[in-house]
Amino acid sequence: MKKLSVGDLNLGGRRVFVRVDYNVPLSRQGGAATITDDRRITASLPTLTTILERGGSVIAASHLGRPKGKRAPEYSLAPVARRLSQLLSRPVSFADDCVGAQAQEKAGALTPGGVLLLENLRFHPEEEKDDEAFARTLAGLADLYVNDAFGSAHRAHASVHAIASHFQQPAAGLLMDAEVTALSRLLDAPARPFVVVVGGAKVSDKLDLLEHLIERCNALIVGGGMAYTFLSALGHDIGNSIVEKEREMEVRDLMTLCAVKGVSLILPEDHLEAKPGERGRPTAGPSVSQGYAALDIGPKSIKAFTTEIAKAKSVLWNGPMGRFEDAAFAAGTEAVAQAIASCGGFTVVGGGDSAAAVKRFGLESGFTHISTGGGASLEFLSGKTLPGVAVLADAP
Ligand code: ADP
Ligand code: MG
Repeated sequence: MKKLSVGDLNLGGRRVFVRVDYNVPLSRQGGAATITDDRRITASLPTLTTILERGGSVIAASHLGRPKGKRAPEYSLAPVARRLSQLLSRPVSFADDCVGAQAQEKAGALTPGGVLLLENLRFHPEEEKDDEAFARTLAGLADLYVNDAFGSAHRAHASVHAIASHFQQPAAGLLMDAEVTALSRLLDAPARPFVVVVGGAKVSDKLDLLEHLIERCNALIVGGGMAYTFLSALGHDIGNSIVEKEREMEVRDLMTLCAVKGVSLILPEDHLEAKPGERGRPTAGPSVSQGYAALDIGPKSIKAFTTEIAKAKSVLWNGPMGRFEDAAFAAGTEAVAQAIASCGGFTVVGGGDSAAAVKRFGLESGFTHISTGGGASLEFLSGKTLPGVAVLADAP
């Protein structure tokens, strides 16, 4: 499902509406808002520079936070315009509303190489309602449309969905293209063995993902909080570990599906268990002591998981192996991340917390692709059609 890319467009002299994801973290200490992490802005630069270097101009648009359809100064994108200007080393004009006379004037005044950033799309309730008239007004600002906001592609909002029908060739930006290409490769043509590693807090968030991937992978490794619903379904004592009892039936079905499809299912053989405020101690086997919660996988599990991962030619990882935010329970997640980074195959990490773990351990260079879209990558990997991807034109 290769999509038309910004690089395929005839950009010279054109105004390009670029849907970006500038939903950056802001700190508001002492009045003025400062951007505490500008990676989402730097991530958009390749797409913007492609357009600018080929003689186009850019009208960038994004949401920021949840202003709930009203103007709210604390969610203004004005600080982003200043940072974008520094990063691009060229002036960036700013329209204090994404529609209306000022936006039209500033868009109309753009010359080749010019950049305009529009104010927060979500100041208008029409954005999240996928409103047709609002989409048409946004579209009226530009000649071409590019979506580079993969993390917003699972929502049918006006700037990612309704807007596209107003352009002949709605195209993917380079970030969007990289996401769709990497994730599609795992689903459609993974190098084998294909090992899926899942963890994190809740199995209920990831049932569809697991079902879709069991159809495609060779081994499924389950760690982290979600493993305790599996172990509980198998009759093990899990102490006070997090569990979703009401999901045990569905988890049993998944285990049956693994057997039917010939997928090796690998569950933790041991854990680090602790009482609140204590450091962990290793368990002897898969059962957890009464009054204790399992907060990381144990040394035997680390050995088993990393041995399987070392044989992989492709790996998808989603969800940490324990409560890794606490250094006492980070060893399992770090060992698994390290094993994936050094397996030498095609390696993808999806999920906000797992991506944060990869960064924290300094292992980014070991991953082929670090997905930026939490919810969007989960839905894509679950086999769902993302509205913002579906509306883009297919590659020639
Ligand atoms: P991702 O964002 O990568 O998809 P999730 O959001 O599903 O990951 O899960 C991350 C959270 O799961 C983390 O906050 C982590 O502390 C928690 N977690 C993982 N294992 C355990 C565990 N054994 N007990 C409690 N919490 C856990
Ligand atoms: Mg998360």
